[in-house]
Amino acid sequence: MNNEVRLAVLPPLALYVHIPWCVRKCPYCDFNSHERSGALPEQAYVQKLTSDLEGLLPSVWGRRIVSVFIGGGTPSLFSPDSIDALLSAVRARIVLEPEAEVTLEANPGTVEAGRFRGFREAGVNRISVGVQSFDEAMLKRLGRIHSAAEARRAIDAALASFDNVNLDLMYGLPGQTPEMARADIAQGLACGVPHLSAYQLTIEPNTVFWRERPALPGHDQCADTQVLIEQVLGSAGYEHYETSAFAKPGMRCRHNLNYWEFGDYLGIGAGAHGKVSFPDRVTRHERAKQPAQYMEGAATKESTVSVKELPFEFMLNALRLVEGFPPELFQQRTGLPITTIEASLQKAEDKNLIERDWKRIRPSARGQRFLNELLELFLPTR
Ligand code: SF4
Repeated sequence: MNNEVRLAVLPPLALYVHIPWCVRKCPYCDFNSHERSGALPEQAYVQKLTSDLEGLLPSVWGRRIVSVFIGGGTPSLFSPDSIDALLSAVRARIVLEPEAEVTLEANPGTVEAGRFRGFREAGVNRISVGVQSFDEAMLKRLGRIHSAAEARRAIDAALASFDNVNLDLMYGLPGQTPEMARADIAQGLACGVPHLSAYQLTIEPNTVFWRERPALPGHDQCADTQVLIEQVLGSAGYEHYETSAFAKPGMRCRHNLNYWEFGDYLGIGAGAHGKVSFPDRVTRHERAKQPAQYMEGAATKESTVSVKELPFEFMLNALRLVEGFPPELFQQRTGLPITTIEASLQKAEDKNLIERDWKRIRPSARGQRFLNELLELFLPTR
């Protein structure tokens, strides 16, 4: 394979901002999140985020931001004033599209109505609430800091200020039966949010659950629960558009769609990752994970994605999309002709893991269920 990339058009550009603190670390969480001790250094952190963004600007001159996602950690621990200072600093340095989606992640137990109003005034227009379950015993088992009633109050408060609200739930939880998962989804639906995400719990290294492994439902039960969730949400008018994401028409998360369509994004904040394309290469950047090191200006890792790895990186994202992708998107984002992956596509089709016509390549129902098996077909050969 030739080692040069030639991109005729650059992808849309988004911005991810990482706020790395939480009230308490959940036992299943492998995100870059750190239990806070005392007051958060909000002002100093916003200043550091600002200089971090400034350092990235020369790589994206003239480009506009299509969406911003303030994730964590628990960004709702930051005051509306700090979020306002952050978004003002971003706007002063790079142009946001007029209709840019601006999401902030919030956790019940850290928000009330006045705080949501403040976030809206700061320019946030989408809220993602991390609930995980409405079952009291399960919330305790998951180490969450909130009750089911507090979760409902947080969602109601979010909906009072925002039309665009996502609710995160998990399934495949310790001791969870399909009926319990159905009850969680039903309660999520009853909240009236236009977007729901349902993630299967996986046990990750460097978590409490890794060391003290709880008994989880088996693979078949989890797969059945996923199908059940798809049916319940489908009949309630939610489109299943990505492995874990469901939205009412017109309410898909544009920021996440940009990841899945292998778009570009700047990543600022402790442990944040970014991807920036140039006409002749695709690069990645990664910030220091520890908040203290990040704030002290620890070195950033930068790398160029090798041409050999680009097809897998593209497929890793695009095959999460239930409707798949048009073949020309592969060429637009990787600079490589779709014929580069023809042998793998053919194998995937023979195994009934994808369906394709000249307009789209999409994972079949079987491919969605055995996504890892499907992705393995596109791994770069050594
Ligand atoms: S609230 Fe979210 S980010 Fe924080 S520890 Fe729990 S799962 Fe991780």
